[in-house]
Amino acid sequence: MGLWEEHIRKVVPYVPGEQPQGDRVIKLNTNENPYPPAPGVIKALREMNPELLRRYPDPSACQLKETLAGYCHLGTDNIFVGVGSDDVLGMAFLTFFNSGKPILFPDVTYSFYPVWADLFGIPYETVKVTGAFEILPEDYRRECGGIVFPNPNAPTGICLPLSQVEDIVRQNQDVVVIVDEAYIDFGGESARNLIHRYENLLVVQTFSKSRSMAGMRIGYAMGSRKLIKAMEDVKYSYNSYTMNYASIVLGAAAVRDDQYFKETVGKIIETRERAKGKFAGLGFSGTDSRTNFLFVSHERVPAAEIFRALRERQIYVRYFPVPRLDQYLRVTVGTDDEMEEMFGFLETYLDS
Ligand SMILES: *Cc1c(COP(=O)(O)O)cnc(C)c1O
Repeated sequence: MGLWEEHIRKVVPYVPGEQPQGDRVIKLNTNENPYPPAPGVIKALREMNPELLRRYPDPSACQLKETLAGYCHLGTDNIFVGVGSDDVLGMAFLTFFNSGKPILFPDVTYSFYPVWADLFGIPYETVKVTGAFEILPEDYRRECGGIVFPNPNAPTGICLPLSQVEDIVRQNQDVVVIVDEAYIDFGGESARNLIHRYENLLVVQTFSKSRSMAGMRIGYAMGSRKLIKAMEDVKYSYNSYTMNYASIVLGAAAVRDDQYFKETVGKIIETRERAKGKFAGLGFSGTDSRTNFLFVSHERVPAAEIFRALRERQIYVRYFPVPRLDQYLRVTVGTDDEMEEMFGFLETYLDS
């Protein structure tokens, strides 16, 4: 082994869900939106001037920030935008978790958190969720270097009421608390209105799920001016041009097409609620998900077997072969037709 190899940064990367190709695939494994982007986005895409690709984009992405600020009733200096919320969250870890004290996040949660912590050398401790996968605010009343959790949580889909989110923020005003709201539009109440009361609160959202734009990579954070300024300083110390021209223009168009957003989110919620009943009828139990996915376990058949059987049928769902989760499947809410096809298969499969 060459000496240079000893000095390579060794990291265990996050593993994203499979992206199988092909038209016949039913893809319910990465929580993408089954509906296309808003008509306003498609129109803006057609009208986009390719000539402008020659130039660097606006480093401050001000068109996108202003549109989001208007939509969220915030100032542009309360908003940070990035290349998907993964970029925003990574930047937030780098900016805020420097005390040397361990940060806290739930033991069952988004598996990217420990990866960023390891990459940036941030110590962390996980906090156990209950047997029913619930986050208890009182478990976060202890000295730490910061807190991060998704609300609703992934992959459980469970949503904390806003009062309990506020409780965690209020009890930890000496550190930054990051609330990752990737799924909040599917039925939860956002903590973004609390940023005026708590300077230490950062709320992160994404265009990938509720706005049908995972391929565009747009995420944003909302917080006090001080938090946002600190993140901007770190961003400009790393890469000034994170948001490309198309993301800025199409992202702003997506926010403006609010009617379509509300319609598609509404459809997904309806499909999800029907799916809860169907799963129950087939012998599955699960959490009361407030997201665009369901987290279910069958009373008799191991999750790994159902996962493989579905996969052979070109129906992709997510399976996590780790302790506590290995009896569960995470199934993204698709269109009604996609869900029908999956339930049709499961009925015959579980009968035999
Ligand atoms: C999907 C997801 C993200 C990241 O989404 P981006 O596509 O990077 O915006 C972040 N947190 C959670 C909990 C997610 O499920």
